[in-house]
Amino acid sequence: MDFKFSEEHEFFRSAIRDAVDRLIRPKAQEIDESNEFPTELWKEFAQLGYLGLRHPEKYGGMDADVMMSMIFYEEMARGSCGFAMSVTMQILMGTYFVERFGSEEIKQRVLVPAIKGEKIGTICFTEDQSGSDLGGTKTTATAKDGGWVLNGRKQWITNGPICDFCTVLAQTDPQKGMDGLSFFLVEKGMDGFATGQDLNKLGSRGSITGELIFDNVYLPDENLLGDGPGNGVKLATDILNEVRVMTALNACSIADEAMRDARGYALERDAFGKKIAKYQLIRSKFADHWAWYEASRLMAYKAAWMIQEGMNCQFECMMAKMFATEMCVKSVDEASRVYGGNSFAMEYPQQRFLRDSRFLLFGGGCHEVLRNAIGAAFLRAGKSGR
Ligand SMILES: Cc1cc2nc3c(=O)[nH]c(=O)nc-3n(C[C@H](O)[C@H](O)[C@H](O)COP(=O)(O)OP(=O)(O)OC[C@H]3O[C@@H](n4cnc5c(N)ncnc54)[C@H](O)[C@@H]3O)c2cc1C
Repeated sequence: MDFKFSEEHEFFRSAIRDAVDRLIRPKAQEIDESNEFPTELWKEFAQLGYLGLRHPEKYGGMDADVMMSMIFYEEMARGSCGFAMSVTMQILMGTYFVERFGSEEIKQRVLVPAIKGEKIGTICFTEDQSGSDLGGTKTTATAKDGGWVLNGRKQWITNGPICDFCTVLAQTDPQKGMDGLSFFLVEKGMDGFATGQDLNKLGSRGSITGELIFDNVYLPDENLLGDGPGNGVKLATDILNEVRVMTALNACSIADEAMRDARGYALERDAFGKKIAKYQLIRSKFADHWAWYEASRLMAYKAAWMIQEGMNCQFECMMAKMFATEMCVKSVDEASRVYGGNSFAMEYPQQRFLRDSRFLLFGGGCHEVLRNAIGAAFLRAGKSGR
């Protein structure tokens, strides 16, 4: 066993950490308060090449491996949760199917400008009546004139109101339920495609989130992504593994930021004649966090390694996501208690960590649903992987 990152990975981490410290952290509070998409920051990240992190060099990308991309997601969440969500949506989910299944013409039209930061992309699963339950998808794509006609509405879409293109999950064969789902590429300017208002969210502010509307949008057959209709769930499973590990690492960083900030407060604040850091009950919060953080990070990077090695790791990814985000919510809660009443003041960052941590509970799958799946798998196999 070897728990070290390679030199290349360490070098990459220090570069992205430096960019986050210089460019994002000083603006994190402002991005949260304004809830506006930071266009200039987006351009700077595009210029640094990060929007092409996972894509081949021939399209302008960095061709990073899974481990490197996870380092990126982990470091990004130390800056601004909202900006990290917009960027990771673009480089992982927004452009993933386009690169894997788009024709060369689509890649030149959509992927190349997305890597340059000139086009914004997203992915659309969620609807009014279907979030966890993809089988409840009501958006339909009906075959017509050698193409498809798309009808429906998607909601809670990150980058949605500002997107130039999106990958949309739609039902192509309602009789088949989950086996009738397929992904389609929709582009801004297509007749019948409209974006809704951005939502005023509790956390992850500055990532613009809202509704997308498809009213008889005609799509040529090449906009059906993947080989033929009906493989939407299979394609979604592949990407969800990465999304879950990414969310786990986001959680590690947000928890650690909150606790590091609380450390500074504990070392300065006096109560009953001494610094509050001297009290055992305050120290125990840092001890618990450290242990939770180490365990969460180990689970997340082990799952990342399994993805990179091409191993079957659906449940490891689910567990890493579930454990790390629950631990994050606990750590952030404890960090805010260190601050006492000041944790309630908008001028301190603790309130932002509290709000941002809540989003991670749902992104990548609600824990009730993940627990169902993990529990069922354990019952089937009768063992825990050993
Ligand atoms: C900030 C933000 C950004 C988002 N961005 C995107 C995006 O870009 N694209 C996108 O497609 N979606 C996005 N979403 C939506 C997100 O993916 C969904 O919120 C998530 O999938 C859960 O779906 P839901 O909210 O409809 O909850 P539901 O599925 O309605 O669940 C409600 C509750 O019921 C529980 N539940 C459901 N089924 C079961 C079951 N079988 N057993 C036990 N309990 C169950 C859940 O665990 C949860 O507690 C975003 C959400 C947020 C908050």
